[in-house]
Order: sequence, then structure tokens, then C-alpha cells
Amino acid sequence: MSYSGDENGFFGEFGGAYIPEMLQPNVLELRGHYLKIIESPDFQVEFKSLLRDYAGRPSSLYFAGRLSEQVGARVFLKREDLNHTGSHKINNTLGQILLAKRLGKRRIIAETGAGQHGVAAATVCALMGLECVVFMGALDCARQSPNVERMRMLGAEVREVRSGTQVLKDATNEAIRDWIAHPLDTHYIIGSTVGPHPYPDMVARFQSVISEELKQQLTEQIGRETPDYILACVGGGSNAMGSFYHYLDQPSVKLYGVEAAGEGLTSGRSAATLALGSKGVLHGSCIVLMQTRDGQVEEAHSASAGLDYPGVGPQHSYLCKSGRAKYVSVTDDEAFAAALQLTRIEGIIPALESAHALAYLGKLGAAANEVVVVILSGRGDKDMAAYLEYQKKQGG
Ligand SMILES: *Cc1c(COP(=O)(O)O)cnc(C)c1O
Repeated sequence: MSYSGDENGFFGEFGGAYIPEMLQPNVLELRGHYLKIIESPDFQVEFKSLLRDYAGRPSSLYFAGRLSEQVGARVFLKREDLNHTGSHKINNTLGQILLAKRLGKRRIIAETGAGQHGVAAATVCALMGLECVVFMGALDCARQSPNVERMRMLGAEVREVRSGTQVLKDATNEAIRDWIAHPLDTHYIIGSTVGPHPYPDMVARFQSVISEELKQQLTEQIGRETPDYILACVGGGSNAMGSFYHYLDQPSVKLYGVEAAGEGLTSGRSAATLALGSKGVLHGSCIVLMQTRDGQVEEAHSASAGLDYPGVGPQHSYLCKSGRAKYVSVTDDEAFAAALQLTRIEGIIPALESAHALAYLGKLGAAANEVVVVILSGRGDKDMAAYLEYQKKQGG
């Protein structure tokens, strides 16, 4: 089995590049250059030094003692929340901005839902002095105004998208349209392991620093590089792919992706793509997505904006089908409760996305001596309003 995909970006039956004729030149240029550039020594030196000195890596691996006691297993948290800009997204945007520079691009576009990827993209553009345009659904702009202000302060232009339902998938369509109109000077920084080949493979490589560090940190802390379990939340799938990456060929490590069940799997309001979806093409890639019987993409629902996407990248579609990784889901309320629990017993306020992975800890059935790594993909500052509302509803 190949987990890195074939030369056309297929992972089994998933992946590929299903794109309009007019996008071919852009995608072919990337495809022709990305591996050579990423693997070159000067790229690696610059990427690694920015990850260390700018993003603050390695992110710490923290043994959560009180949480371990409650769960009944040895729980470690991989602290992506401590990165600059507050999540794992900076790993990918740093990689892509260095690639864009080497391709001679002067202008960057990006799509964003909650604004986390938009902020990370605007950040690296400020760092490198490149023009930045971020496409964001008008509804998301209204819901996430602090991130809109952040992007503008960083010098990015935020374009409010008023087509469709004015959310992430509409912003993505608008970004693709812009890229077609600016094939020569513009690089499109996609924020997750989605989109046409080579994006899923490229983003996974940039995020694989997470599992690279895990191996070393676990060796130091427990004397072996393999945990028994890795738990990560799955939106498009980038933090999960990065943390699975260097363990895919080690079957003793049980890999769990946790999707958002929203108001419940059978409620009609969820984002549990791999539980409910089927094969189809979305945003240039053959993946598992939530669709009606006649192939209309269904709307996703999750209290966490970062997991609110009706598809999941091709690697996860494949890992699910092959059985190498297991995919489960937790509801909004379970995630809220897990976020509050971590805050109260460890003094860490997690992103609501990450809280989905935490919420599955209790259902995992790990034994007392087993080691579980939970990827804490981001910090919870952006979710304070939602947390306060949840606490009010709980009466405390
Ligand atoms: C964007 C985001 C996610 C979901 O994206 P993936 O590509 O699935 O990792 C998860 N957690 C946080 C904090 C995010 O910002």
C-alpha cells in the first residue's frame, strides 16, 4: 500500500486533479516544481529555521497528569496551540510562502472559513512582503469579525463573498476563479489537505513536522518513538495527516480521526463526512463528501467553524477505506464539555476543533499503561464567545 500517492496524486481511488481547462497551467506548474523545491537543501534550511525561530517549534509534548488520571491512560498533548498565530496552520503557510517565493510569485490568495487559515496566510505575507487577498464568505465575516480585523491589520485585503450560502465552500470557489484570472503572478495557498494534486500531498508534507517531532519527543519521554494511539480532529484533514504521517507504516500505532457530528449523526446537521458521505468530486479532488442522492453537495454543520466542511481530503478517504485509520465522531455538546474539562483540570483552553479529539478520549477504551497522544491543534481564544454561551446554557 502506498500512503504518499502515485504521480497523479491518487491514493487508491481518491485524489487526482479534476479541474477546468483554464486552471491547468497553474496546477501543472506547481506539480512540476513542488517536490524538487521542497526537497532542496536551501528550502529545508529556511523552512526549518522559520519553524523554529518564527513559529516557535518544536511545539511541546506535554504529559497531562490530571487528565490521564481521569481517563485511565497515559495521555500526552501535542501543543500546536502554542505555535505563532495559535494553531498548526502556520506550518503549512510558512512552507507554501517559501515555495511561492521560489516560483517567483508576487501575490498570494487564500480562502478561509473561521479565519484561522486566513490569519496564518496574512501573517506569512506580511513576513515576506507579498500582496495578500483572502476570500471569506460574508456570513463567516460577520461571525468571525476579530479574525477579519486581524487579517486587515496584517495588511491583507479581505474579500467578502456573497455568492451561494456565503460560507467556506463559496469562498473557495471565488478563490479558484481569481486564480484562473491571475495564472502568472499568483500562488493560491490552500489551508488543508484538500484540492487538486499536488495540494493534499504538499500540505501533508508541511504538516508532517508534527509526527517527526512526536517520534523524537516520545523517545525522550517514554523511551520509544511509538504511542499506542494518536487522536486528531478532522476538518479537511491537515493536522491529522501531519500527525499520522510518519506512523503510517507502523501498524502498532492506532490512528483515530475525530469528525464533528454537530447536533448528532442522524440530526441532518453534522459534518461527519466519513460516517455519512460517499465518493464524489469537490474542489478539484475525488474524495468522500456529503451529498444528496443526485450529487448536490450538502451543507455541513458544526459548532466549530474549522470542522465545518462537507468533504475530507483524499488521504483520509483512502485511510478510512483501507482501514489503516479509524474515523469516529463526537457531537457539539461532547466537544464543549471536553473543552471545559481540559480548561479546569489542566489550565489549557483548547480550540473547539481540538476539543473534538479530546472528547473521544473517554470512549477510546485505552488501558492504564497505554500511551495516547492527542493533537491539540489550536488554542481557544477564538472560541470564547461560544464557550461562554455553552456555560450559560449549562447554568454555570
Ligand atoms: C483549521 C483548523 C482545524 C481543521 O483543519 P484540518 O485541516 O482538518 O486540520 C482544526 N483545528 C484548528 C485549531 C484549526 O484552526
